[in-house]
Amino acid sequence: MKKSQYDVVIVGGGLAGLSAAAYLSHHGKKVAVIERGKLGGRAMTINMKGFQFNFGAHAIYGRDQSHLTLMEKELGLKLYWSDFTQMKAKYDLGDEVSVVPSNIGGLLQTKLLKGMDKFRFAYHILFTTLGFEKGDPNISIQQWLDKKKVSPAVKEMMLNLASSNFFTGEPEKIPSDVFFGYYRRLFKTNIPVSYIQGGWEKLIAEFVRVIEGNGGEIIAKTKVTSLLTDGKKVKEVYTKKMKYTAEDFIFAIPPEELEILFEHSPIEKDLQGYSSYEPTYVMFYDIGLKKRIDSPYTYIFDRDRQIFISDISYYDMEAAPPGGQLLQAVAYLKSKDIHDPYAHNRIKQEIEAFYDKHFEGWRKQLVVPRVSKVAVVQAIKWTMHQRGLPTTFSKLPNSHFAGDWCQGEGQLSELSFSSSYSVCQRILKKQAEQKGA
Ligand SMILES: Cc1cc2nc3c(=O)[nH]c(=O)nc-3n(C[C@H](O)[C@H](O)[C@H](O)COP(=O)(O)OP(=O)(O)OC[C@H]3O[C@@H](n4cnc5c(N)ncnc54)[C@H](O)[C@@H]3O)c2cc1C
Repeated sequence: MKKSQYDVVIVGGGLAGLSAAAYLSHHGKKVAVIERGKLGGRAMTINMKGFQFNFGAHAIYGRDQSHLTLMEKELGLKLYWSDFTQMKAKYDLGDEVSVVPSNIGGLLQTKLLKGMDKFRFAYHILFTTLGFEKGDPNISIQQWLDKKKVSPAVKEMMLNLASSNFFTGEPEKIPSDVFFGYYRRLFKTNIPVSYIQGGWEKLIAEFVRVIEGNGGEIIAKTKVTSLLTDGKKVKEVYTKKMKYTAEDFIFAIPPEELEILFEHSPIEKDLQGYSSYEPTYVMFYDIGLKKRIDSPYTYIFDRDRQIFISDISYYDMEAAPPGGQLLQAVAYLKSKDIHDPYAHNRIKQEIEAFYDKHFEGWRKQLVVPRVSKVAVVQAIKWTMHQRGLPTTFSKLPNSHFAGDWCQGEGQLSELSFSSSYSVCQRILKKQAEQKGA
């Protein structure tokens, strides 16, 4: 079996693994990233009949406050962004639509909050932004709102916002400290939502450019099948044909894979349980249309059914062929609906009816649909009983963990980037200290 020696070996080539490999190679580390399938993991882009279907809206929340932006600047990533037009984001309230109150302009115009409730909501935004509203790790956001006797309209507003940002049909289960931690960052943003021109594919190509440009190695379609520890450190990881030795290892692979790899290791017990956690699931239903159907909004959210439609091609010029349109509908799934085929059919029909209501005539223009009835948006759904995996364990200090199942800031891909960023900082510091010693 051939052997290769690196400063850092990264297992998993999703957004977390690739961003870590790019960051470390940029900072002079000899890295290898090993991915069992195609690069990008869940952040994939599929071209069908000229439409670029992204797994997910490739929307980045609070871009100016994000770890992706930190990396973009440090690594010189060439990304082009299209920022969301706030006033084109609407709630469908049944017989009328209203502005989403996620900034002051929206707050003044929204029909969802009236009179004093507008001030109450603004008060919560201000207190959260200033860091006074911290929540309580022992109670959920629903319990917190009840305990503080928050008015019903403001309560509903906060839970609706959380549905959109956490991609969940059960926002009430979010721990209150996680909720306020998230909004402390997001309420400070000047760019609530942005799209990467060219989708995930462009971002992945940029990470690859940085890794390869700095002499890093990318090994795709190769699975890491086992590892060796000496009881204190990970020594090597193995693929079918090769073994890889490094000072540090980043495991950017989901909890069920970690449990297999770390069986009989000193952290076997610490990793147990995470793989049985429930992920955040959605149904998505994207449609590629021959001709644009104009609409006054680019984001419309059905509050009662928890479905939203985004006009992806309005923001991402490369998503549809000239004159065409790519729309994406996402429905947040509740736990009881995940394994229920009747619920799937009902939700699919609700999405079609929602398209009928706001993009009349779409069926005639349909070139290609893409439906996934149950997709994992985030590997761990944040509830009182499910919190992210730590990014390190003292029993095996040269193994580090990153991904959207880990502890970090933000949600969705921002969790992947923030965990990857903190792991990289730790490794750079540690290896610099070892070199200096
Ligand atoms: C429908 C949908 C919509 C979404 N919308 C958005 C959005 O609008 N905005 C946003 O920010 N995020 C969104 N997301 C979430 C985002 O896609 C994920 O948070 C992100 O892609 C997770 O990246 P990751 O690297 O943490 O994990 P993953 O992508 O799961 O990467 C893990 C990688 O490890 C590899 N691997 C596993 N085991 C091994 C092994 N033994 N050896 C080698 N490799 C291995 C896997 O093949 C995989 O590539 C969406 C997701 C979905 C599904």
